[in-house]
Amino acid sequence: MPERLFVCTPSKLGSYEDCPRRYRYSYVDRPTPPKGPPWAHNSLGASVHTALRNWFALPAERRLPEALPTLLKGTWVREGYRDEAQERAAYRRALEWLESYVETLDPAVEPLGVERVVAVKTSVLAFNGRADRIDSRSGPDGPELAIVDYKTGRTGLDSDDARGSQALALYAFAAERVFRRPCRRVELHHLPSGTVAAHEHTPESLARQVSRAEDTARDIVAAERAVAEGGDPDEAFPTTPGPICTWCDFRRSCPAGAEAPTKDPWAAVDRVLTPAAGDA
Ligand code: SF4
Repeated sequence: MPERLFVCTPSKLGSYEDCPRRYRYSYVDRPTPPKGPPWAHNSLGASVHTALRNWFALPAERRLPEALPTLLKGTWVREGYRDEAQERAAYRRALEWLESYVETLDPAVEPLGVERVVAVKTSVLAFNGRADRIDSRSGPDGPELAIVDYKTGRTGLDSDDARGSQALALYAFAAERVFRRPCRRVELHHLPSGTVAAHEHTPESLARQVSRAEDTARDIVAAERAVAEGGDPDEAFPTTPGPICTWCDFRRSCPAGAEAPTKDPWAAVDRVLTPAAGDA
């Protein structure tokens, strides 16, 4: 019998690469172990992403900065904030980011896809993922595509982040096949700083990222098989304690997570709202 393809998204692969135990809690153990409370930074990120999706759903002539407060309010996610004052401050900051960001966009230019699902199969993977935006741009040899990913964290990003992102590379690999146009450029648009971190892949560098994803898929299949054959799930999916434990949804269910410093659900947003010493 041929091996079944491993069905995956970037977050499924990334979850295992970050920590096999976290992968197990998310995708293998049923019922899913209880998660901690929602994080305010996830609410903030989701609110901004949805506002941008809805911005592009407007007719081009209505893509005006005045539309942003309604868009942001309409799909604002309220979970995780310390109190109403913090939530209001986060809303105002998000609106500032969006106002600055849309100034950089040409309302007449339609992206090829917004929150567009792209899917592709290899000999190992059946990959699907939702790209924030897929742009069609003119290149030296005709139209080409670019993958755009929005970021709302406190820290800026550089071209190494764009180059190293497996998710962006897999989106590019899939988009090239779905739309039958070259897609080598990947971009991280960091709204708080208004910066764009970009990388131009080559066919070889995309192939390397796909191959890495396939290796991860093989590791996951082997771990799942070991458990199915009676192996110890804790051994098959080991913990990898580190700074990520502080922000892990399953830290309360995980023996390693209990050792990690605790943070309030709104701690990361507090940092976003508080300029660091030396910030302009
Ligand atoms: S708390 Fe840490 S070790 Fe445990 S599952 Fe989460 S990331 Fe992994």
